[in-house]
Amino acid sequence: MTATKQFEAESKRLLDIMINSIYSQKEIFLRELISNASDAIDKMYYKALTDDSITFNPDDFYIKVSTDQENRILKIEDTGVGMTREELEENLGTIAKSGSLAFKNENEIEDGHDIIGQFGVGFYSAFMVADTVTVYTKSADSGEAFKWESNGAEGYTIDPADKGTHGTEIYIKVKENSEEESYDEFLDDNRLQSIIKKYSDYIRYPIKMEVTEQQPQEDTEEETVEVTEEKTINNMIPLWKKNKDELTEEDYEAFYSEKHYGFDKPLKHIHLNIDGQVRYQALLFIPEQPPFDYYTHDYEKGLELYSNGVLIMEKCADLLPDYFSFVKGIVDSEDLSLNISREMLQHDRQLRLIAKNIKNKIRKELQGMLKNERENYEKFFQSFGRQLKFGVQMDFGSHKDDLKDLLLFYSSKEKKMVSLAEYVERMPEDQQYIYYATGDSIDRIEKLPQTEMVRDKGYEILYFTEDIDEFAIKTMMSYDDKQFKSVASGDLGIEDEEEEEQEKSEQEENKSLFEEMKNQLDGKVKDIRASKRLKSHPVCLAADGEVSIEMEKILQQMPDNQNIKADKVLEININHDVYSSLKEAYDNDKEKLKLYTNLLYNQALLIEGLPVEDPVAFTNDMCKVMD
Ligand code: ADP
Ligand code: MG
Repeated sequence: MTATKQFEAESKRLLDIMINSIYSQKEIFLRELISNASDAIDKMYYKALTDDSITFNPDDFYIKVSTDQENRILKIEDTGVGMTREELEENLGTIAKSGSLAFKNENEIEDGHDIIGQFGVGFYSAFMVADTVTVYTKSADSGEAFKWESNGAEGYTIDPADKGTHGTEIYIKVKENSEEESYDEFLDDNRLQSIIKKYSDYIRYPIKMEVTEQQPQEDTEEETVEVTEEKTINNMIPLWKKNKDELTEEDYEAFYSEKHYGFDKPLKHIHLNIDGQVRYQALLFIPEQPPFDYYTHDYEKGLELYSNGVLIMEKCADLLPDYFSFVKGIVDSEDLSLNISREMLQHDRQLRLIAKNIKNKIRKELQGMLKNERENYEKFFQSFGRQLKFGVQMDFGSHKDDLKDLLLFYSSKEKKMVSLAEYVERMPEDQQYIYYATGDSIDRIEKLPQTEMVRDKGYEILYFTEDIDEFAIKTMMSYDDKQFKSVASGDLGIEDEEEEEQEKSEQEENKSLFEEMKNQLDGKVKDIRASKRLKSHPVCLAADGEVSIEMEKILQQMPDNQNIKADKVLEININHDVYSSLKEAYDNDKEKLKLYTNLLYNQALLIEGLPVEDPVAFTNDMCKVMD
């Protein structure tokens, strides 16, 4: 017997959660083990189909479940590829996937439910019902067999073993019943059959069980005999090959969780059976929640790709555009060659056609949701709207037309999310632009002085609270021929000719005062103007040109920001009391004018959420005013 090896720390933690979990659905361990068996047969099947030296009979591929009540053993065996010693070590000694657990903090993982759902911990779930798990496996590659054994707590052992054919046998020593929990059910054939039916019905390989039934005796009518027969429990038709009409919401949801697409329920499924230029079936899901790593570099998009029922790629990224990277699911096409390599696949015409088709279907589905299931759509947008906005901006805006009608923004008028079409539809006739305001939160934008004028005009304002918002609409430039305009931009495009005249004369009148103030600010602002937009506030900042103040803030945070700055304009409300103070100071006391100018400039920075350049000087200035 070899020495016992410890599980990796992460795996150990997960095991502890698993063993002690009060998870109500312990039965899912069977789904996990059958799903692994099916994956392993998929690999074997693919190998057999693509390697001429392997001869096989389709009957060779199956999964078998059996029990030994007396010894409390539940056995699951498959005729898949098996595992080499290294694979055993790697796959069952550590958590296979990217140590996902490291992402979660202690509090979050306390509830095993979340973990089981979110990471699909797979193999380890056996320890929810097992005292000991023993795995005999023979790799089809190496031809060597090994035995892996563990009681969960004290690590595991690996030893050479004997096994006839390639594949894996898993022996679960089922726990004794405790006061709170009964485990006998996992040794009960009828119960096991119903668990298999419930979760694994559409597994494509037969799941066989020895079933003992009472059958009537031929000759004497009353007597029955026990007959034991091997039966296939599952239906075997993959869900996506079934007729939509035969399927219920529950079927789709069960598939979604069996595949570990998410721990949530899907918001929507799209079931396609296309018989066009290229024939394919697809089963796609739009999740409700983003996966925990969705907005990180670790997230990998992709759909499972099958060639007429045989899995050829687990995550085919080429099937999904980045802006729909949240979609989960599978595509199966008989028009795809089994032997196609990854490199070839990228350029495959059929695959490109499928990808394009799928993209359009997803978009249509989302549009339909927006129209007919608003509440669901808003949930969706809450989770993935950000990704759509990135999509508008990426690739130099080449997808903007596909995405523009899927966007939602918060509206000053409706106090809820609205689409651009809805905004444009209720624009008053004299309104030329689509107005927006940027800020950290809805609350903050509500208080922005720059919004006063536009609001007073009765125009609706879209609130941009995410970094990406303004960049996205700058890429779009316009919607329905209406340009976007920031409430903080130099020219709001609101005033009529008369007002413009008046403004010119005001600017003229104050020319020397503003000139002086600008000099005092020493290049910090491009211009000083009498404000058209301010009603009750004394000052605000506006930006001329393409770069807004909000964009400056975001760009400044980027590593290679090239110090891009907005052209800032300080706007003064000439109907405010401070204006007369400014004028008076200009006439009588230049020092005072300097003091006031600095104060007003710094106030404007604060309102914008920009840092005051010299806080000490600023507070000293305030004290001077109090004197
Ligand atoms: P997942 O199936 O999501 O990868 P699991 O914990 O269920 O995670 O399984 C871990 C790995 O162990 C699998 O990816 C596979 O490589 C290997 N494995 C598990 N069961 C089998 C089996 N019956 N035959 C071959 N390999 C298996
Ligand atoms: Mg698994």
